[in-house]
Amino acid sequence: MLSIVATPIGNLGDITLRAIETLKKCDLIVCEDTRVTGNLLKQLEIPKRELMSFHSYSDKRKLDEVIAKLQSGSHVVLVSDAGTPGISDPGYALASAVRDAGIKIEVVPGPSAFLAALSGSGLPINAFVYLGFLPLKKGRKTMLDSFKEEERTIVLYESVHRIEKTLNELAEALKDQPGRPVVIARELTKMHEEILSTTIGNLSDVAKSITKKGEFVLVIGAV
Ligand code: SAM
Repeated sequence: MLSIVATPIGNLGDITLRAIETLKKCDLIVCEDTRVTGNLLKQLEIPKRELMSFHSYSDKRKLDEVIAKLQSGSHVVLVSDAGTPGISDPGYALASAVRDAGIKIEVVPGPSAFLAALSGSGLPINAFVYLGFLPLKKGRKTMLDSFKEEERTIVLYESVHRIEKTLNELAEALKDQPGRPVVIARELTKMHEEILSTTIGNLSDVAKSITKKGEFVLVIGAV
């Protein structure tokens, strides 16, 4: 069986009891960075487990190796460095191949940064669109322009390296909608968590002043 296990996005206390049990009893953990996952196991005082790194660009040989282990009866866990595997993280290729091979998959849900940001945003979230990271080049402007018409709350991921540029581009793309709300969630569940509410009209000022440290989720109110 393959267990897909969510892990904390910052605060270690956000691991579930089921996640701990599953990590303790499995035979192999497929992860992104073996140092990150090794450290998580250490902090949770989980005895050492066999770890295998797997990325979206990992070769087919590695995929076949995991499938062979599952077929021989091993209990394999898939985790990412943080949050829910497959959400802007590797995981899709493995889950898809395991499903195609007719092997059982169970999910052990837990934190994901976009859900935490949405629930803390104070914006309507009955309907939302999760877009992960904006495209870096091709399609970026088209996507930003499409936000002008979006009738659902939009949620995006951004890294510290591009946060200022992205906020400025959002301000430019939506300049005709200055009252539209934007929430910037930084370092969720961590010591310096910040959930800042602003508007498109104020976004270029915020782009300059916001602390450029940590990880960011952007939530943009619907039109
Ligand atoms: N799989 C993860 C999840 O379920 O949220 C997402 C992984 S993605 C590679 C990393 C991005 O998630 C970061 O660049 C940031 O946009 C967002 N993120 C992760 N942890 C965060 C946190 N504690 N606070 C704010 N954003 C976070």
